[in-house]
Amino acid sequence: MSEDDLCFDADHIWHPYTSMQNRYQMFPVVSAEGVQLTLNDGRQLIDGMASWWSVIHGYNHPKLNEAIQQQLGLMAHVMFGGLTHKPAIELARKLIAISPEPLQQVFFSDSGSVAVEVAIKMALQYQQATGNTQKRRLLTVKRGYHGDTFSAMSVCDPEQGMHTLFQGGLPKQLFAPAPQSPFKGAWQPEELTAVKQLFEQQHAEIAAFIIEPIVQGAGGMRFYASEYLAEIRKLCNQYQVLLIADEIATGFGRTGKLFACEHAGVAPDILCLGKALTGGYMSFAATLCSDEVSQAISKDGVLMHGPTFMANPLACSVANASVDLLLAQNWSSTIASIEQELIKGLAPCSSLPQVADVRVLGAIGVVELQQPVDMHRVQPMFVEQGIWVRPFGKLVYVMPPYIISKEQLALLCQGICNVITRLGG
Ligand code: PMP
Repeated sequence: MSEDDLCFDADHIWHPYTSMQNRYQMFPVVSAEGVQLTLNDGRQLIDGMASWWSVIHGYNHPKLNEAIQQQLGLMAHVMFGGLTHKPAIELARKLIAISPEPLQQVFFSDSGSVAVEVAIKMALQYQQATGNTQKRRLLTVKRGYHGDTFSAMSVCDPEQGMHTLFQGGLPKQLFAPAPQSPFKGAWQPEELTAVKQLFEQQHAEIAAFIIEPIVQGAGGMRFYASEYLAEIRKLCNQYQVLLIADEIATGFGRTGKLFACEHAGVAPDILCLGKALTGGYMSFAATLCSDEVSQAISKDGVLMHGPTFMANPLACSVANASVDLLLAQNWSSTIASIEQELIKGLAPCSSLPQVADVRVLGAIGVVELQQPVDMHRVQPMFVEQGIWVRPFGKLVYVMPPYIISKEQLALLCQGICNVITRLGG
């Protein structure tokens, strides 16, 4: 990549959440192998982000490459209307087998946000079909994040800016306070008062409760008590409200359970998966639902969604290989050991005056600062340390590929602590 390429990029290509003026520095990457990204100038960085939760087995994995290559020889894509294929059938079988018990039907789509849109449609159509025609709104919690499409934005934290930017255009949903009791900390049942009131007073209008189980990701990297989720499940049952679990970030082992709702022993009516589904190889997602939901929708109608790239065979094949790869290893002890290394490696940050909190759950490590970082200044500092970490706001966080070694984890944590130390108080 030449200087000219980078200037063209700056002038013509949108990157996530960027302005076309005052752009952050871009780092040109030419290849990636295992846990390492190689930049244009030859520098190698240890990847702490797993390309936003997704590359769990590392980059350029021979088994995942092979799965795509084999499928490429058969067909790269085919429409899913009226046609079906083995990679989709195999994948649906696998997802049903490993996900919580009542989930029996799978809708394949092409991104996490769309998986959330489909989940919301399922919930609304279910309530319509079962005669609860007034149940048209979603209940959710503050500090949540569910994607960038319109219905998904409507259930994102109202403070995130999307609500103000698109005022009037977003469906009006109901927000309970964010869960407060920390994961494995002291459980404070009083925190349910406000959400119980919302259920009591508004249940006639509520189709579904949507939540990220245990980890609120982009809305603050907060780990909350499993008791909260268990209570929400009970309230949903009591008031004929469906529970949608958005496990797009947490699914496939990241928190130490295959699905984070297992920490609470809770099964949702609808489950959204994405990101790590293909080991981060392709844009792909799935929405699973229970027999009860699918039968009600299907009695007199159809589920009103059908994307062009639904169940893309390359994506299904690599997803099959990725799920097999995960299940064939002792993934839970891998996650437990990453957790221990993150706790140890990030501990020195805790005593710095600029740090408000350090928390670790499974293969997720978070350092919350007292002040938001200046990205223009901070991003190059991580690169100088030989690590790829992309903070937002006050949060410096990592969720590395599961294949990261102890030595690489130590370097990653050391680099983070060095940068935060240099930021000063
Ligand atoms: N839900 C959650 C919990 C997510 O973390 C994300 C992505 N950050 C999404 C939904 C949206 O997924 P995508 O970016 O693939 O549309």
